[in-house]
Amino acid sequence: MSGVLPVWSVQPFGVATTFVESLTSYVRRVASRMLIPAPRLIAAVSGITQAQHYTETINGTELASARITAALAQWSGVVELEMLSFAPFRSGLHLRKDFRRDRAWCPICLAGDPDLAYDQLVSGFHRSRRCIVHGADLQTKCPACGRTHRPFALWSEPTRCHHCGAQLGDGHVQRNDLDPETAAVASIVEWTQQGQQVQPLRIAGAMRLLRAAATLGKMADHLGLTFSTVQNVEAGGQRLQMDTLVRILTRSGSTIAELHSPDPVIPPTPRTARTSVIPRVDVERLREGARHELQLPLSERRSIARLAEDLEVSRITFLRHVPEAATLARERRASRPLSTRPA
Ligand SMILES: [Zn+2]
Ligand SMILES: [Zn+2]
Repeated sequence: MSGVLPVWSVQPFGVATTFVESLTSYVRRVASRMLIPAPRLIAAVSGITQAQHYTETINGTELASARITAALAQWSGVVELEMLSFAPFRSGLHLRKDFRRDRAWCPICLAGDPDLAYDQLVSGFHRSRRCIVHGADLQTKCPACGRTHRPFALWSEPTRCHHCGAQLGDGHVQRNDLDPETAAVASIVEWTQQGQQVQPLRIAGAMRLLRAAATLGKMADHLGLTFSTVQNVEAGGQRLQMDTLVRILTRSGSTIAELHSPDPVIPPTPRTARTSVIPRVDVERLREGARHELQLPLSERRSIARLAEDLEVSRITFLRHVPEAATLARERRASRPLSTRPA
C-alpha cells in the first residue's frame, strides 16, 4: 500500500507481557493519528471491509484477524503486531463470543499521558472485570453522557468520549484486589504471550485427573459448565473458549501451567518473573501422606481437597503425582450413604 497511505511505525504497547495492547486498540491509535476512521484503514491495508461490524472477532482467533494482522504488519513494518491478537495461537483456543461488543477501559490507565493510553488485550474479554495494573473496575460507559463505545466508532480516540468529548480518564477511582476471573484471563494471555500454546489434549488429561471418581454431571455442576462441555473438554478434540478455560482454572484452583504439565514430576517453570514460580513436587512426601491417610479408618479420613491443602499442593498436583489418591477417592466415595452420592 506504500504510495497510497503514509507509513506510520506506531509501536504497540506491552508486547510479550500480560499487559499487551489489543489489536483493536492499536488500529484505533494509528487511525486516530492519521485522522481516518479505523475501518477505512483496515479496508485500505487488508481489503477487509466493514470491520466496525465485527470488532468482537478482531482480537480473537478468526481468519480475518490473521489476515488483518499480516497485512498491517507488512504495511507498517511492525512485526510484533501478531502478538496483539490470538490469531497466531489459534490451534488451542476458539475465541469468538468471549470478547465484549463494546470497549472497556480502566479510568486510571487513561488518566496519565494521552500518548501512552491504550486498551489491554485482557480487558476485551467478558470475564475481565478489573484492570490488571490498578485493580480499578473496568468501565464501558462514558461518565458524562452514559453512552457506550464501539471500538471502531468514528472519531474514537483512547482518552475521550467520541459522543460528548468528556475525558474518560480518572486517577481517583477505587483500586481493588484482582478478582479470580480476571486473574485467570490474564494468566491465559500471559501464557500465550510467552509463546506457549493452549493444548486441548493436555487439558483433557488434567480434567480427567481432576474429576477422578466423580461423575461427569457432578463435575459439570462443580465447574459451572454444561455436561456436554465437560465431555468435549475431556475428549480433547475441540478448541477451547476463554469462558470454559476460566471456569476450569478458577473452580479447580489450578494454574494454566499445571493444566499443561507434560512431566509427571516437575511442571514447567514459567519464564517470566511475574508468574508465580511453581516449586518442584516432592512426590515421595505426597505419597507418604496418602499412604498414611489410607491407614486411617474411613470416618477419620480427610477429603482429597483437604488432604492436598494440608500437604500444601493443589488438588490437581496431588492427583497427578500420587497413584494412591485414586484409591482414597474411590473408598471415600463408596463409604458415603447412597443418598448423598452424586447421581
Ligand atoms: Zn489501569
Ligand atoms: Zn460521553
